[in-house]
Formats: sequence, C-alpha cells, structure tokens
Amino acid sequence: MLDDMTSRLTDRITDPGLLPVKGDFSGDGRLAVRDPATGELIAQVGISDATGARAAVDAAQTAFAGWSMTLPQHRAQVLHRWHAMILDAKEDLARIMVAEQGKPISEARGEIDYAASFVQFYAEEALRPNIEGVTSHLPDAEMELWREPVGVAALITPWNFPCAMITRKAAAALGAGCTVVIHPSAETPLSALALSELARRAGFPEGVVNTVIGDAATIVGEWTADARVRALSFTGSTEVGRLLYRQSADTVKRLVMELGGHAPFIVFKGADLDRAVTEGIKAKFATSGQDCLGANRFYIQREIYDEFCAKFTAAVQGLTLGHGMDDPDIGPLIHDRQIDKQNAHVQDALAKGARLLTGGGVDQDKGPLFFQPTVLADVTDEAAIMSEETFGPVAALSVFDDEDEVFARANATEYGLVAYVHSLDPRRIYRATRALQYGMVAVNRTKVTGAPIPFGGMKQSGIGREGARQGLEAFTEIKYICRDWG
Ligand code: NAD
Repeated sequence: MLDDMTSRLTDRITDPGLLPVKGDFSGDGRLAVRDPATGELIAQVGISDATGARAAVDAAQTAFAGWSMTLPQHRAQVLHRWHAMILDAKEDLARIMVAEQGKPISEARGEIDYAASFVQFYAEEALRPNIEGVTSHLPDAEMELWREPVGVAALITPWNFPCAMITRKAAAALGAGCTVVIHPSAETPLSALALSELARRAGFPEGVVNTVIGDAATIVGEWTADARVRALSFTGSTEVGRLLYRQSADTVKRLVMELGGHAPFIVFKGADLDRAVTEGIKAKFATSGQDCLGANRFYIQREIYDEFCAKFTAAVQGLTLGHGMDDPDIGPLIHDRQIDKQNAHVQDALAKGARLLTGGGVDQDKGPLFFQPTVLADVTDEAAIMSEETFGPVAALSVFDDEDEVFARANATEYGLVAYVHSLDPRRIYRATRALQYGMVAVNRTKVTGAPIPFGGMKQSGIGREGARQGLEAFTEIKYICRDWG
C-alpha cells in the first residue's frame, strides 16, 4: 500500500553499520516498522549506535559555524522551500503516517498541514529583528541586546504526532540559526526520515539537519552528555522528561519540555449541551485518544449530568473503528502497552464504583490493537483514570455540584497542559480561566493549537513554550553589548 516515496526512502536509509538494540527490532539488527492496524511489516530501517549519535553532533557542530552566520533571509528561503515541499508531498507523508502510526487518513492530512504551518511561521519569524536597544544607565555607554543561536539543538519526538512535533521544534531552531540532531520515536521513524529527506532537497546544507534512529537511551544519552549540544527540546511522557532533565543538568542545557497531559473537561449547567458533546468527542477521541491534549476527565454539573451522559454515549456509539486508510473516526492504538493501559483503567474504575455505558474492551473483530470507544460514568476520584494519563479512547464521566469543588478537583494533578470549559456565563468563564492551573484553557471549543500560539504546560506538563515568538527562546541566547566610544 505504500507508494514509491516510501520505498525510495527505505532504500536510502538502510545503512551498513547496523547494531542490535532494544525495541521492535528484527533478527538482523534493523528496526522493524509495523502497521499497527494489521501487524504487517512495512519497512526495516537502518539504525545507529552511540558512535552514530556522536557523528551527528560532529556534523551539526561543524555545520553550525556556517549556518548560524547565514543571513536570516537565506534561512527563511530554505524554510519556505521545505514548507512547499512538505505540502507537495502531503499525500505521501500522510500515507506513511497512517502506515506506521495508524491514525485516520484525514487526521494524517491535517497533521501535515499543521506540521507545515510551523515551517512557514518560522520562515517568516526568522526575518523579525533580533536586536533591541537599551536605554543607557551609564554615561557615554550605548547598549544593545542581540539574540544569537545557541548552537546544536537535540530534538526528541514522540510517535503520536510524528511530523508536527518535529517541525514545531526544528523550524524554530533552524530559523534561529541552530543546527539540529533529531531522534524520533522507534514506532514512527519513516515520517521523520521523510521530513529529513525533504529538508535535504529543500537545500539545508550538509550537517544542518541530522536524523538518528536507534535505541533511545543510547542515542539521547549520548546527546545529553555532550556539552556541544546546547539545547534539548523534548516532547513525550513526563517520566522520560524527568530523566532527560536530570541528564541535561551536568552540561546545563537550555530545555524545552512538552510532557504529558491530563485534561479536565468541565461542563456547567446552562452550557450549550449539544456543542459540549460534539467538542467533547473531539477532545477525547482525536488521534484515537492518543493525544497529550486528550480530555481525560469529564466533570459535568449535577443538573445536566444524566442528559450529558446519554447524549455523549449515543455520540460515542456512532463512532467508527477501522484501518486509517478507510478513514474511520478511530484507528488502532500504537502498541499493546497502550491496550494494557486502557484495560487497566477501565477495570480499576469499575472496581471503584464506575458504570460502563459503552465499549470497555478490545474489538477482536478488528484486531488486537483496536480498543472500543468507551464511556464510564460515576467515576470516583480514587480511580486511576482520574489521576493518570490514559492516552486512549476511554472517557471518564463524573458529577460535580459547585465551582469551588470542580476547580479543586481539576487542579488536583501534577499535570497542567490544557483544560476545557463549557459555559455561556461570562462571569463563570472568567472565574474558571483564572482558577484553572493550565498552560492553555479552551472555552466552548476544542481546537486551540496552531503555529502562532505558545503551546505548553504548567507544573509537570512541561517547561517553556513551542510555537509563536516564544518558541524561539530556548534556541537563542541574549548577548548584551555595552559600547563606549571613548
Ligand atoms: P515517550 O516519553 O515514551 O517517548 C518520547 C521520546 O523519548 C521518543 O523519541 C523516545 O524514543 C524517547 N525516549 C524514550 N525513552 C527514553 C530514554 N530512556 N532516554 C531517552 N529518550 C527516550 O513518549 P511517547 O510514548 O512516545 O509519547 C506519548 C507521551 O508524549 C504522552 O505522555 C503525551 O502526553 C506526550 N506528548 C506531549 C505533547 C506535548 O506537546 N506536551 C505532545 C505529544 C505527546
């Protein structure tokens, strides 16, 4: 089912220096990439070891001298070409993504547009002034602040958005004048290699963009220990984020961490209920539930609870499950650990008093990685699903009585990425947006992301922001110049 581009790419990326490493690897030491919907082997990818990881930093460090001194106009031009090539290859990239990640094809196409939008945004942002004057406090001195690229940036990305998480980081770093070493997740190397190949064709000089596939701990461990890597931008779980935070301490790297989420979805009485149901379906089931912005906990005010449960369950029962190329609502989960987690959260919630309204397990007719869209009602705060990221198509519904109660329950978590609020009362909306300890608050809607906004979380959902002007901060240093003409 994969087209010409994939086979050309997989030919090109098979390299002779293969080593056996941890992960889903075939006997000959290559990384096996499988279609999660069918289990079919779709490619075998050459992998690197610690030597390869070091060689990538060598190349990036050498290229930095030239790339960081190019005119911003030049960097913008190359980024614009990359942007155009990503859009030209949209169908190829979307199909590659469906094949290795499993998401529905229309979501994959949407992700390519989203991924490309960061490249366009930072092509334009590269041209903005990066020098600021300072009103002098010293006689005869004149002062300026320059923003300079930090150096080599390591970019570590997850499998749930295999293209957008790369471009959101890489376009900012490259636009700022950094060179990059990229390590994608072992589940989705083909999307990363395709983007990297398009970057080469767009004209990034040798060594500016380097993608390294292999055992994550080995590759990333090499980079965190390397003092030449000046910034590390990570998107993934809070658990691995903590580890990389510690590993980066010895070389005092600039850090961006986009980590886990555990979004509350709050519906107050008086809200547009049909709209809340529609937006709730999007917030829970997009990316088959495997989304850091996924609504994990639904808090519904008592007066509308039964009606919401009924309408939401009916909507969930209408969702389709299938292979991503058939464009269902929900595709397969990425691997069996994800299935185990859904089962564990459902069984735990039921044991603690929840009621199963629909779904509840694997759809065996579809295959072992297809989990039925599931709704649980009357879920108690003691259930694991109310405090842990589920990262799958299981919705937990719970009732609340008043504002103070729901704000306290929504904030009782180590996470703080996004919160959803549904209400038509402006004062209530104001109080909610003030009270919720989240980096992003969505009111009466689900889609809030895009290149112009600073994406990121509070508490242990992350450090720093991606997208917008703020997305450049980790990749640049401020140099203060104080001149006296004597
Ligand atoms: P993960 O933490 O397992 O892996 C993310 C990346 O880290 C991958 O490239 C992986 O190869 C690498 N990695 C894994 N173990 C490592 C180790 N020991 N040392 C070094 N690198 C290691 O996360 P995942 O399962 O790929 O993605 C799901 C998680 O990502 C969820 O928690 C989700 O909320 C989060 N996420 C966050 C955002 C955001 O922007 N905040 C976006 C997407 C996903």
